[in-house]
Amino acid sequence: MAGARKPVVEVRRSQRRRRTVSAYRDGERVVVLIPDQFSRAEESEWVDRMLARLEAREGRLARSDDELFDRATRLRSLYLVEYGDRALPSSVRWVTNQNGRWGSCTPADRTIRISHRIQDMPDWVIDYVLLHELAHLIVPSHNARFWALVGRYPKAERARGYLEGVAAAGGPLTD
Ligand SMILES: [Zn+2]
Repeated sequence: MAGARKPVVEVRRSQRRRRTVSAYRDGERVVVLIPDQFSRAEESEWVDRMLARLEAREGRLARSDDELFDRATRLRSLYLVEYGDRALPSSVRWVTNQNGRWGSCTPADRTIRISHRIQDMPDWVIDYVLLHELAHLIVPSHNARFWALVGRYPKAERARGYLEGVAAAGGPLTD
């Protein structure tokens, strides 16, 4: 991604590794695991390769936490405007540890987490999941009042159908 900050890379050498290289994000850092016998040249070649691969995996639009927050603000203004700041989270983050759910909300500290599994889905599906979690800031449970708020989103029904289709095909369950 052009203009992106280069992440801090931590290389870990492992004697048990023979040829396999892997990389993952750990907060701000990227950890790259390489075999112990790699030369310095091989190390730097593989670090570059794994960073490129990670960026590609993380989505063509590189949807960031900041972008999620901007979206949440826009959705709030469109569909939950009368609730003011009550419908704004303290933070919205992409997370990778949310296996069973598309998104989750903790009303007590007003944080929202969105599963990276929807990162490559269409914008209108991501907006649905976000609005669903924003509505939980106002109504924590799935009651009629909650669904009335979510129903303000014109594509709510369609997005639920889309997500149920993905779930039926072996993806995570809808929340
Ligand atoms: Zn819910």
